Amino acid sequence: MIDFKLDPAFERKLEWIRNFVRDYVDPLDALFDNYSAPYDHSDAAAVAALRPLQAEVRRQGLWGMHLPPELGGPGFGQVELCFLNEILGRTHWGPTVFGCQAPDSGNAEILARFGTDEHKERYLKPLLENEIVSCFSMTEVEGGSDPTQFTCKAEFDGTHWIINGEKWFSSNARFAEFLIVMVVTDPDAPIYDRMSTIIVPRDALGLEFIAEPGVAGEPYDEGSHAHLRYTNVRVPADNLLGERGGGFKVAQSRLGGGRIHHAMRVIGMCERALDMMCERALSRHTKGERLADKQLVQVDIGQSWIELEQFRLLVLRTAWMFDNHMETEARAWIAACKVACAKIAHDIIFRAMHMLGSLGVSNYTPLGRMWANVLVMGMADGPTEIHQMYAARHLLRRHKPAPGRFPTDYIPELRRQAQEKFAKALEPAE
Ligand SMILES: Cc1cc2nc3c(=O)[nH]c(=O)nc-3n(C[C@H](O)[C@H](O)[C@H](O)COP(=O)(O)OP(=O)(O)OC[C@H]3O[C@@H](n4cnc5c(N)ncnc54)[C@H](O)[C@@H]3O)c2cc1C
Repeated sequence: MIDFKLDPAFERKLEWIRNFVRDYVDPLDALFDNYSAPYDHSDAAAVAALRPLQAEVRRQGLWGMHLPPELGGPGFGQVELCFLNEILGRTHWGPTVFGCQAPDSGNAEILARFGTDEHKERYLKPLLENEIVSCFSMTEVEGGSDPTQFTCKAEFDGTHWIINGEKWFSSNARFAEFLIVMVVTDPDAPIYDRMSTIIVPRDALGLEFIAEPGVAGEPYDEGSHAHLRYTNVRVPADNLLGERGGGFKVAQSRLGGGRIHHAMRVIGMCERALDMMCERALSRHTKGERLADKQLVQVDIGQSWIELEQFRLLVLRTAWMFDNHMETEARAWIAACKVACAKIAHDIIFRAMHMLGSLGVSNYTPLGRMWANVLVMGMADGPTEIHQMYAARHLLRRHKPAPGRFPTDYIPELRRQAQEKFAKALEPAE
């Protein structure tokens, strides 16, 4: 049975979150609007404003909403998470207030799955409580989308790993207590068995910050996506996460959930942009009528809503597959969500900015920050093209070549077969 109705108790939860986000998270966004503000625990005022909100979320049983009960979360299914994340996606601070912010959420998944008891005590526990922040340090200058080109390496001396090389776009490294670093440990192994993931404490000797690139619009070199150099950084053998040579498996384990939760939040972000578009269209008068009365404006609004609802269905379908233990099959659907979220955010946010005119391109609305996000979306966690290719290969595996000289849908042959099938009916009446 297909049913789009929500359980009334769940609907009440959503309503509580909507109100809470509007009353408390939106004001947080307005006050602490730096891109990296939710990760910067050195801002005492922001932390003082944040902690009581997090406590209220905990009281409501909504803290770490993506987590299973064994990690202290409420254990929602992915379809439920879709509705929840949509609301948080309207804001910048929402995920941090509710304890499900990337990349900490994915890094916590790695620690829970591959960490030792000591890692769990030292890093996972405080990470899940948002007492500390973490970083995933994988991308290199010469090899971003193609990890087989990575050169940052770790050698084992019998008791310690010794790391040498560079990484960049390591988000939040300067706020992080620890980094999960992807390094080459087995250069002669088959390509996908060469890498391992290793925990490096942020204060490790030999870890140097070369630069702090930001995204477009941020002041030069004052971002939070660090360019790092590792020079003879020594960490104990135990800091290896998962198996030696199993780095790809570890990295992949954090991406699936992360990508779909991100797609869920993009729905909320686009919905907010669409709301802003509608309000503007109804408020602004030009040449004797409202923008809303102009057909080209109606086309933009109608098209944005249609695209958004299509995208929401795609994400819900993918979430449903997770809830129904179809993780392997869902991979192509996640790729589809990843591609579609970059496209839809690009199109809707561009239209919204355009419709709000000078205000839309200014920093007096949230649209500017959304736009900076759009530019990253199609490329971070693997560029659009790679996910399109993955989806295509998945589809092609389910098809076969044409059985003969002509395609299966070759009409002359279809007609011949149909004539054979209905030969009796086609016989001339006596
Ligand atoms: C704001 C921000 C935050 C980030 N945070 C992190 C982080 O925390 N940790 C981390 O490790 N990394 C992070 N990254 C890096 C991000 O994951 C990489 O930018 C991404 O993997 C792409 O790598 P690249 O930048 O080297 O681009 P490239 O690999 O050079 O790709 C550039 C373009 O080339 C094309 N292309 C590449 N490969 C293919 C292909 N196989 N087929 C067809 N076309 C292709 C695509 O158009 C692609 O967009 C972040 C990046 C940004 C911008």
